[in-house]
Amino acid sequence: MKIIAAKFVLEANENVPMRCDIENVAFDFGDKCIAAMQLGNATHDSDLQLIPLLSANAGSSGVMTYNCFRYIETRILDGIRSHLSDLDGIYLHLHGASYVETIGSGDFHILKEIRNLVGPYVPVAVACDPHGNLCKEYVEQCTLIRSYRESPHTDIEQTNEFVLNELKDIIRHRQNIHAIYRKLPMILGGEQSVSSDEPVKTINRHLDELQKDPKIRSCSWHVGYIRHDCDEAGCGIVVVPQTQQDTEYCETVADQLAQYVFDKRHEFHYTGLTADPDKALQMVLQSEEKPNFITDSGDNVTSGATGANTTILRQVLAQNTQKKILFASIHDDNTFTRLADTKTGQQTDIQLGADYNELSAPVPLTVEVIKKAPQLGTSMFGEYGTQGYGEGILVHVISTNIDIIVASSNHPFVERQQVRQFGIDWFDYDITVVKCGYAFPELVKDGNVAVMSLTEGATLQDTSRLPFKRILRPMYPIDNI
Ligand SMILES: [Zn+2]
Repeated sequence: MKIIAAKFVLEANENVPMRCDIENVAFDFGDKCIAAMQLGNATHDSDLQLIPLLSANAGSSGVMTYNCFRYIETRILDGIRSHLSDLDGIYLHLHGASYVETIGSGDFHILKEIRNLVGPYVPVAVACDPHGNLCKEYVEQCTLIRSYRESPHTDIEQTNEFVLNELKDIIRHRQNIHAIYRKLPMILGGEQSVSSDEPVKTINRHLDELQKDPKIRSCSWHVGYIRHDCDEAGCGIVVVPQTQQDTEYCETVADQLAQYVFDKRHEFHYTGLTADPDKALQMVLQSEEKPNFITDSGDNVTSGATGANTTILRQVLAQNTQKKILFASIHDDNTFTRLADTKTGQQTDIQLGADYNELSAPVPLTVEVIKKAPQLGTSMFGEYGTQGYGEGILVHVISTNIDIIVASSNHPFVERQQVRQFGIDWFDYDITVVKCGYAFPELVKDGNVAVMSLTEGATLQDTSRLPFKRILRPMYPIDNI
């Protein structure tokens, strides 16, 4: 059987000044993109001819330019067109939270164009992030769509493997089925839906139980994405029937599952330690053990923020503390370029801060350049090597105990190996400040205290303060339903 595979991933935050263009996307083509696709053992069948087209990983960024999206979409559609005569199915790894100038959701657009090309019956299976948005038309165009269960996403490979295996099964035993969708009138931030915590833990257990039913091929719930205003924002659930005869049954299951999740709406909460910025800093400063971590949740680059804010740096400088502190990282293109021209070991005066607004206001510093290095990919997101993730320059701030990785991109630091790339280790610091929302698994594992600081910024945590105009109303928790 012949299956075409493609990956396109973008979380598009419209509250940042940058646009996502070609240079912000990590591309792999042909056989080289197999590793980035994280398909596990699903590619090993002797009768499977998998044709990997491309992996376009834009991570979290701003709204994508039309031209950049057109390039990606055209590569996918051209690849499908050239195999149209003997193609058995299409596997897509999408995110669901892309947003493109003049188009809106890129994910929806790709599916629509694929259906225009192949018609309604060719099996199309989609593996996706739970932090993507859905709509009825999009879901129903998928033969199967299934999100990762875990947040942080420790089960990406497992999910992709499941989806590709199901696609092979659908091709071997053809069924006229499609995914069934229910929209929920509730909107959630990712930081309130951590899967090691309730109510997500119980919801995931329930989904696994449901899936044991031989009439149900797959079911999943989707948190949604809240960093651009669009009518599809909000939570949803998906159920995929095993056979055509199971469709009516699964429609009922979908209604029940939607109600099941909606009934838990009051149970969602932040996971782990969360505090206002002043309190959060005091918590880590008072910690006797190391390492400790603060996540700058208003400037969460894993949800598309720029990572340029200097608010916690200014907060720390005002403390005059002797604690050893690392910022991993602060994104500032101009300062990065300036430092790139400064030799290692030399001192120089910089104004660190991209100055997009008062949150990223420049801070005058005298620094010594310690080490320059390309940033490492994160293994949990299937990123390998150092291509396409930007670079960093480790500097020491003179007359302080502060070190900063000044970055040329908003690529996230979520793994210890990424810090070690700069010849340092977060175990050597009392406090490491990262540009994330919830603390990722290694921070939780290594951290004595790991606290989410409720800072202002493009990824503000307080959902009720977000200025949505286009979403379904009433919507919990904006409306009291
Ligand atoms: Zn996600």
